[in-house]
Amino acid sequence: MENVVIIGTGCAGLTAAIYTARANLNPLVLTGTMPGGLLTTTSIVENFPGFPEGVDGFELMQHLQKQAERFGARVQFATVESADLTGEHPKLVVDGKELETKTLIIATGAGHRHLGLDNEKKLENKGVTYCATCDGALPMFRDKPLVVVGGGDSACEEATYLTRFASKVYLVHRRDELRASKIMADRAVNHEKIEMVWDSVVSEIHGVEEDTVTGVQLKNTKTGEEKRLDCAGVFIAIGHVPNTQIFKGQVDLDEAGYVTRTEGSKTSAKGVFVAGDCADKVYRQAITAAGMGCMAAIDAERYLGEQD
Ligand SMILES: Cc1cc2nc3c(=O)[nH]c(=O)nc-3n(C[C@H](O)[C@H](O)[C@H](O)COP(=O)(O)OP(=O)(O)OC[C@H]3O[C@@H](n4cnc5c(N)ncnc54)[C@H](O)[C@@H]3O)c2cc1C
Repeated sequence: MENVVIIGTGCAGLTAAIYTARANLNPLVLTGTMPGGLLTTTSIVENFPGFPEGVDGFELMQHLQKQAERFGARVQFATVESADLTGEHPKLVVDGKELETKTLIIATGAGHRHLGLDNEKKLENKGVTYCATCDGALPMFRDKPLVVVGGGDSACEEATYLTRFASKVYLVHRRDELRASKIMADRAVNHEKIEMVWDSVVSEIHGVEEDTVTGVQLKNTKTGEEKRLDCAGVFIAIGHVPNTQIFKGQVDLDEAGYVTRTEGSKTSAKGVFVAGDCADKVYRQAITAAGMGCMAAIDAERYLGEQD
């Protein structure tokens, strides 16, 4: 039986791997289909402490993995298909094989919802982004008009945050009223740099030929009328989906599917801890995921100590 199995090799999983490996627990770390996690999809990370010039996301994750392996973590390219977390020890099915472990750290992250447009993928990291905190301060967006898509708290928060850098922010929402809480909505609607674009959806993103976002095509949801709006960036804030489907019924999840924590990183299941974006709908940053990975590792280590 394993001491510690960690599901996920994003910032949360690999930080948990560094800590549990240094505690001589010989953790088994399962990568899933995205080794290195979400940060590998971005070029420059400017807000991870310790890198004054910024760091390439892929490179950062390679360093984390090497650091974990140096202390004995075993990183395996494998995906967890199902989990039974109701017994004395967590049990997993990993690529068809059963695996039992004394402790489990879930660090499976969360994906963002996409608009599903043809050019969205082609222009990702070339003006299309899903995180204002991560990318808003990049030079390509400075003093330029930007578009935020969405109508909830996140969209309002992203739009308000982007007013620090942009010449103007257009908040595009499919209805004529925001879903966001009143305080967040009022802040956005009344901001002098934010212009609301009601009853509208982004039907395409322009800039593939130029290799950078140059504008969006807007479609009015009531009249069907289409028009172009020039901008340097499109921030898509239409929600996240935690990667927790395989844990449904095995561990407590909230109504949106995020793993619920009881104390520190503990979950409702025995010997099961959680870290990173799959348990965090508020901060969703590399450094917060890494911090939660550290917490989960320490909690797992203490749990194992109590069992001896
Ligand atoms: C384009 C982009 C740019 C970003 N830029 C920044 C930035 O500049 N600064 C910043 O702080 N944050 C940034 N972020 C956010 C940051 O990437 C996330 O907050 C962070 O990656 C969360 O780490 P995590 O470990 O919780 O999850 P993730 O990085 O999402 O990793 C999840 C891991 O779980 C694995 N997994 C999932 N399901 C299974 C399964 N069934 N079996 C096995 N493994 C599984 C995946 O393969 C992956 O390895 C950015 C995000 C994106 C998308």
